[in-house]
Amino acid sequence: MEYFKEEHNLFRESLREFLNREVSPNIEAWEKVGKIPKSIWKKMGDMGFLGLSFAEKYGGSDLDFFFEVIFNEELGRLNSGGFVVTQQVVQYMSAPYIYKYGSDKLKDKYLPGIISGDLISCIGITEPDAGSDTKNIQTRAELVDNEYVINGSKTFITNGLYGDFIILVVKTDPKAGSKGVSLICVDLNQNGITKNKINKLGWHSSDTAELSFDDVRVPKENLIGEEGKGFYYLMNGLQLERLCFLPSNVATMEYALSESLNYMSQRNAFGRTIDKFEVLRHRVSQLSSELEALKAFSYYCCDLFDKGIYDVKSCSMGKLIVTELHEKISTQCLQFFGGNGYTEDYPMARMFRDSRIGTIGGGTSEIMREIIAKVIIDDVKYEKTKSNVNSKENSVNTDFSNQDNISSLDKLDKPDLILATKTITIAENTLDITIKHINLADGKGDKKSSSQSIRHQIAQLASEIECSKQFVHSINSKFEIMENLEKEISMAKLTSIQLMDRVVSKCFQMFGPYDNLEHHPLEKIFQNSKMIQISNSKSDLHDNISKLIIEK
Ligand SMILES: Cc1cc2nc3c(=O)[nH]c(=O)nc-3n(C[C@H](O)[C@H](O)[C@H](O)COP(=O)(O)OP(=O)(O)OC[C@H]3O[C@@H](n4cnc5c(N)ncnc54)[C@H](O)[C@@H]3O)c2cc1C
Repeated sequence: MEYFKEEHNLFRESLREFLNREVSPNIEAWEKVGKIPKSIWKKMGDMGFLGLSFAEKYGGSDLDFFFEVIFNEELGRLNSGGFVVTQQVVQYMSAPYIYKYGSDKLKDKYLPGIISGDLISCIGITEPDAGSDTKNIQTRAELVDNEYVINGSKTFITNGLYGDFIILVVKTDPKAGSKGVSLICVDLNQNGITKNKINKLGWHSSDTAELSFDDVRVPKENLIGEEGKGFYYLMNGLQLERLCFLPSNVATMEYALSESLNYMSQRNAFGRTIDKFEVLRHRVSQLSSELEALKAFSYYCCDLFDKGIYDVKSCSMGKLIVTELHEKISTQCLQFFGGNGYTEDYPMARMFRDSRIGTIGGGTSEIMREIIAKVIIDDVKYEKTKSNVNSKENSVNTDFSNQDNISSLDKLDKPDLILATKTITIAENTLDITIKHINLADGKGDKKSSSQSIRHQIAQLASEIECSKQFVHSINSKFEIMENLEKEISMAKLTSIQLMDRVVSKCFQMFGPYDNLEHHPLEKIFQNSKMIQISNSKSDLHDNISKLIIEK
């Protein structure tokens, strides 16, 4: 799968050159003062770096989603979560509601400014008493004559002080539950709006605010789409919000590993550079392998979106895994730096702070597992609405155990990749058997699938399986264009054996107590997985992967 063509690469080069020149040298200062000068967005707008997939008539570039992927990757490399999120909120979390559902008048009024970098927008969902439980928001918009009168408060609003307008999530009919939610565009410079800055652990260059609305009057024409459809619009829009975290976080993690390797090659202890110590090398191998797998999965999710598919399951899985891995990598990479990692003179302190928000903002990890569990265990089908980018309408290969894929691996004579495929298939089968088991009622009519703890474990494992599957797929498809994939194949082998081990052990526990192993429904799988583990040394794999990374 080659996602990037010549024009993508040229775009990356020019964006990177711009960021290296205009942004990188200033990040430190912007983090210190807690503000990014608005002139930088204007410069980016003038260069054509904003509104990449918006239509040309609003000043956009009408490009495919992989240009947005590059935009997020290049901003992610800067290691300033605050800088990245400021524009992510504008381009992916707020303006798309106007673009997809707004009237022509709203589009003409707001979109050109968003794309030129003159306007900054924000999205107001969270309230002091309603975060994860979005349906419970209380901010009220009442239609009086031809105006909405808004009362209520929002909290944790990124760009709340800095922004020019907000896409405000309000109740227009409080008795109608989620069908009484609407989206209204509100200019932030009007009477009746009070703003307070919130002091945060990280994301120092971005502002986050509490906003209260006291009889704020907004023309009726500022309603986005139809009254009462706001919750539906949000549920669709949140997939893009979650998706954009994938390329930006992957790029930040790549930066963390590359900075760590650089540091480790220069730092001496006990007469040698610290990149010679086995445990550190194995840790590099582990983190790099997990990241490489996630990167493949991230491109797969972005490819679905590019092809016009808004996939709730893959976006939620991607958001879950990428933010959890970001936290792990920033913690463990900081450790490579020793005491220096804890200081502001080295890059890891900021990354450590910034990464902590990932599993909270845009839907917490627990909420992601709730959504995934509904799809995997309860077979809930979410509508796959069209994304707002130009759809390529191609099919996406999602059938991993497809015989053609296995046979093509056989032909390539890649036993390690075949083993990776087999271990993932074992993990997948084990999870399927377990899901069937937990959905069976016991003598009292109770089902284990009602246990939240079991549901979340299944959601987590299913996400990891999906990620590994796409990693192997991506390697398989690279054989046509690349000759040496030894590192990637070893990484796939390592992560898939570890995954199989995790899935089999956790599923065993989910079955509950059994008299002996022979009667256990997973007995054969258990033995098979243990045989694979004892006949493949993880330590050798780590040695090989770390050698390929460190001594390349
Ligand atoms: C820096 C920052 C920027 C933000 N930017 C924005 C923004 O621009 N716009 C906006 O609208 N919001 C924004 N948010 C809010 C963010 O989306 C919420 O914080 C998040 O959705 C969680 O809501 P909450 O804080 O109310 O936590 P709660 O919903 O109170 O959750 C508290 C804990 O309970 C857990 N929990 C809740 N429900 C369940 C459940 N059913 N099962 C298991 N566990 C559960 C959660 O996972 C969490 O661990 C931002 C937050 C931060 C910190």
